[in-house]
Amino acid sequence: MFRVLVTDEVDQEGVVLLTAEPALQVDELPTLPKDELLRRIGEYDAIVGRSATRISAELLKAGGKLKVVGRAGVGVDNIELDVATSLGIAIINAPAGNTVAVAELFFGTVIGLLRQLHTAAAAMGDGRWDRAKFMGRELKGKTLGIVGLGRIGSEVAARAHAFGMTVVAYDPYIADERFAALRVRRAPSLDALLAETNVLTLHVPLTDETRGMIGKRELARLPARSVVVNLARGGVIEEAALQAALETDQLRGAVLDVFTVEPLAPDSPLRNIPNLVLTPHLGANTVEAQRNVSRDVCVAVRDALLH
Ligand code: NAD
Repeated sequence: MFRVLVTDEVDQEGVVLLTAEPALQVDELPTLPKDELLRRIGEYDAIVGRSATRISAELLKAGGKLKVVGRAGVGVDNIELDVATSLGIAIINAPAGNTVAVAELFFGTVIGLLRQLHTAAAAMGDGRWDRAKFMGRELKGKTLGIVGLGRIGSEVAARAHAFGMTVVAYDPYIADERFAALRVRRAPSLDALLAETNVLTLHVPLTDETRGMIGKRELARLPARSVVVNLARGGVIEEAALQAALETDQLRGAVLDVFTVEPLAPDSPLRNIPNLVLTPHLGANTVEAQRNVSRDVCVAVRDALLH
């Protein structure tokens, strides 16, 4: 008998697969205080969670029987990976299930920005009827520049064709065949991509290479009045440089779903920029995505324990 602890609010789609398994005993304790978790972790063979519970070195070391940690989602930044590896604990994530959710959020937010839906809706809430003020822009005929043509970048590219956009991407790790299959033109360098992009969207992981990859210099290379969207990870864009480019009207606008420090501070200067649309890390926040990632990670944790 193996014991599995579900530490966060993980969708039931996957949890029921674990509980249905006679060789597994599953406890769902999503609100366990940190010290209580530390005290009890030694009883468990596996943890399944999202991002709320910090899987610290202390917790991993206290989990004498731990064999696997499953993350219902892609990011494993809440898990002390080196310590887990040194203790022989496997880390399993579910990177594919929220791809469509993020790709759809890209179009939702970028069209919202270009049509000024956030300010128009707020004005309606204030009792106004300001039609002339909210002249929008279309995606059709614009060039979409994608940095990172992986799972999400590819889904964004596929949908961008339907909007009549020209799609160019920069990703040195993806083969020419994949670019061709997606009907995406390859930019030879990031600078070349930036020079022809009207809508820039980032879909890279946060690594030493991508940290701060879009700063003052890069934003200055975009054609005037471009749009920048970051649904990837905070830290890929330098927030102060983005703020300056928005405040000087060099950029038409921007969307940020992710931030260098999350949650974003209540008094962050980013909150007061009219042409910046902010969402609180909603990329994977759809019922469908949470079902997908829960199922994917629970199947993988079950198989890791039982096979
Ligand atoms: P992926 O691994 O499928 O794709 C990432 C791509 O980035 C790969 O093709 C890789 O070759 C490319 N890449 C890596 N370094 C690069 C560099 N220096 N320059 C250019 N390209 C580079 O990942 P994915 O599933 O598409 O996810 C992409 C990003 O979206 C990740 O940062 C992930 O954390 C983030 N994400 C955010 C949310 C959210 O809630 N906002 C949800 C899911 C994923």
